[in-house]
Amino acid sequence: MKKKLFFSALVCILAINAGCGNKNDSGDTAAPSTSENLTCGDTENTVYDTNGISGFVNLTDVVPDAILEIRYYSTYNFVGRRIDGYLQPTALLSREAADSLRAVSDDLKAQGYRLKIFDAYRPQMAVDHFARWGKDLGDTLMRRYFYPNINKSLLFKLGYIAHHSGHSRGSTVDLTLFDMNSEKEVDMGGTFDWFGHESHPDCGGNLQTLKYRTNDTLTDIQFQNRMLLRKVMLKHGFKPYENEWWHFTLRNEPYPDTYFKFPVRQL
Ligand SMILES: [Zn+2]
Repeated sequence: MKKKLFFSALVCILAINAGCGNKNDSGDTAAPSTSENLTCGDTENTVYDTNGISGFVNLTDVVPDAILEIRYYSTYNFVGRRIDGYLQPTALLSREAADSLRAVSDDLKAQGYRLKIFDAYRPQMAVDHFARWGKDLGDTLMRRYFYPNINKSLLFKLGYIAHHSGHSRGSTVDLTLFDMNSEKEVDMGGTFDWFGHESHPDCGGNLQTLKYRTNDTLTDIQFQNRMLLRKVMLKHGFKPYENEWWHFTLRNEPYPDTYFKFPVRQL
């Protein structure tokens, strides 16, 4: 059905099977290996692999309370330009990850919060864009906002830029909390995609005891805000990433070996 929708709505090209990252060898049906993958684009020259798209959902169809702020569709990101593969300011996730995020959202809503989503599924072409940008050492357009203390030549070495991202597997999300009382984003003591140790969730405290440790970077409240998000995400099946307080992956992600290529647009 989805394929038919793409076919009728857009200029679509019947392409030979271009493959879709690493094959998922778990035998699921999310990455069909037919040779009739319909690929669609905004222009007649753009070809996209839609292999595996049937296992994905619009995040807001499942989590209508979520607030979307898709940074890679905008120019407010560390590159400073719209990122390849973001055709619409929307968020896609695997059905399983979206269902778990719904539980997170309902839990936090009862506590006076909503989820604000910065990114979810990220196509491989976006990751390729980051890698290309990382090699262009002269392009420091957004340095003052996202990486003022790091030499751009070290971004690959330090792990801030890589050639693959867990986001491309469709069950990873970058998010923060929105406080319905103050009507503001919750203060996490740092911004999404800040390149630095200040983004580590344990900056300012102990992740096991959740005890704050006096430091020059985070206040007690900022640390506890990070822990609130973390605690609820872990409770509902996500695992954290110890370099970024905003990044979580579904523990039992359905496509652990598949890096998808289709672009971000409303399904
Ligand atoms: Zn992330």
